[in-house]
Amino acid sequence: FCEDIAGKVVVITGASSGIGESLAYEYAKRGACLVLAARREKSLHAVAERARDFGSPDVMVVKADVSKVQDCRRIVDQTMNHFGRLDHLVNNAGIMSVAMLEEVDDVTDFRAIMDINFWGSVYMTRFAAPYLRNSRGRVVAVSSSASWLPAPRMSFYNASKAAIAQFFETLRVEFGPDIGVTIVTPGFIESELTQGKFLNNAGRLVVDQDMRDVQVNIIPVQRVESCAKAIVRSALRGERYVTEPAWFK
Ligand code: NDP
Repeated sequence: FCEDIAGKVVVITGASSGIGESLAYEYAKRGACLVLAARREKSLHAVAERARDFGSPDVMVVKADVSKVQDCRRIVDQTMNHFGRLDHLVNNAGIMSVAMLEEVDDVTDFRAIMDINFWGSVYMTRFAAPYLRNSRGRVVAVSSSASWLPAPRMSFYNASKAAIAQFFETLRVEFGPDIGVTIVTPGFIESELTQGKFLNNAGRLVVDQDMRDVQVNIIPVQRVESCAKAIVRSALRGERYVTEPAWFK
């Protein structure tokens, strides 16, 4: 079984860089229409142009912050107004930050991780679900190997990714055969997220080269392109879970 996605409509959050950008090209090569969402509009337009070159018949850009409920609703509304259908929703938008719990003065600064990674995926899926049900579509949840690998200074990020995995594992049971669920748990991938730029405990971006060096030394580094290939291939085959070994195929 391999779903033909040509002419169907795929919404990708976090499509302005990294894995999300590569996912756009993988879907585009297969002829899917795309809705690309993120905060950096200029980058989204650059991705949209390349996606058209790769073969997507129609690409729409939506500047949006998935931590805002009204933005999640707007992504889905604009998709339906323009395309009239929604077949795959890829919840990929995410941020990472690093800090020891006891270094953190105000835990509130870290709520953004849950707001974007977890709640963004929840709201997107809630608003998209009726349309996914109509199309017998699929939701793809980008979790992480971080959801089961404890590492110091990663507690907030890891918790957000574990929440995603369990939330969508449970939705799989609720959705039954009507909406497919593919959960993805990438390992370490070279991207903006892992280039040593993290939020510090005041919510500001900092470079944490140590953290990056440690990660690179313990986990084989993968490329966004091979990760995106594995995700789209697995989603179209209706696979339930994609873990790191799939990258090497
Ligand atoms: P990037 O930083 O390149 O991509 C993150 C994407 O999320 C960007 O497009 C960013 O766009 C978007 N984003 C961040 N915050 C928001 C927001 N509030 N609203 C909308 N979009 C947002 O990193 P990756 O490609 O590596 O990360 C993609 C996903 O893969 C994340 O969920 C990450 O946790 C996950 N992952 C990554 C791994 C890795 O090693 N790189 C490993 C396992 C999982 P913008 O800034 O324009 O809003």
